[in-house]
Amino acid sequence: MNPPNTSPALLVTGASRGIGRAIAIHAARTGWSVGINYRTNVDAAGETLKACTEAAQHERQVFQTIRGDVSVATDRKNLMQFMIDAFGRIDALVNNAGMAPRERRDIVDATEESFREVVNANLIGPYFLTQSVARHWLSGTARSRSASFIVVNVSSISAEVVSLNRGEYCISKAGLSMATKLWATRLAPHGISVIEIRPGIIESDMTAGAKDKYDELIADGLIPERRWGTADDVGKVVAAVLKNDITYSTGSIIHVDGGLHIQKL
Ligand code: NAP
Repeated sequence: MNPPNTSPALLVTGASRGIGRAIAIHAARTGWSVGINYRTNVDAAGETLKACTEAAQHERQVFQTIRGDVSVATDRKNLMQFMIDAFGRIDALVNNAGMAPRERRDIVDATEESFREVVNANLIGPYFLTQSVARHWLSGTARSRSASFIVVNVSSISAEVVSLNRGEYCISKAGLSMATKLWATRLAPHGISVIEIRPGIIESDMTAGAKDKYDELIADGLIPERRWGTADDVGKVVAAVLKNDITYSTGSIIHVDGGLHIQKL
């Protein structure tokens, strides 16, 4: 079977909800075909697909949902194969899927089980998914399809800032930040950019449980821009990367946090 003749295709992991959904929609608005990955939430993934279809710019764009847990090796393999089967190509990967620990616990009490679960999803998953996509790009079969390939890693302010009740999350995101530098260096000679997007405090299901605490901190001036971030804020920035508007910048960290990362005296 010949591969379909789609527009450049992007795989967004964790695109059923929150930041991943916004990234998928902004990519659709920018003319991309999108593989919408989710772990369990098939209905929410369907809503993302509908929103992408409404945001599409031309008829060569294709949108499809795909179940897969990025922390599972066979699922990652299936995700890669799905992109080739459904779109005939993969031109960009956004490693967005991620999880907070199921329970926030002081690092003195936190469990190894939680550490392994979070690191598997937030670091091992994206690291090896990137490896799988990179192998495809470097194999030569993909080179004729696209002038430039892109990987975006969605890390977190937690890559840099300590939270004692979710050490496993901080370590997973710090590791993802190093993964960005490693892959950026390895792939740059092949014209492939790897960018880290580092969100601050973004309104989503992930932060819903800590809403009151963050409301108070924001009112007290924690964030220079004095508001919550939105998934849309992150989606717009990723779209700028996908449009190739951010050039000669591989390995860069783009903060999407209203200035939260700025140290103050
Ligand atoms: P969210 O609302 O909890 O959504 C998480 C998404 O990831 C869902 O689509 C979920 O799929 C998917 N997912 C989770 N684990 C997965 C796995 N192992 N394999 C595949 N998909 C998986 O989270 P969010 O706030 O949008 O966060 C998205 C990313 O931004 C995460 O990497 C997070 O660490 C990062 N981030 C978030 C914030 C924030 O303040 N919200 C700040 C900094 C960084 P289902 O719907 O199927 O469960």
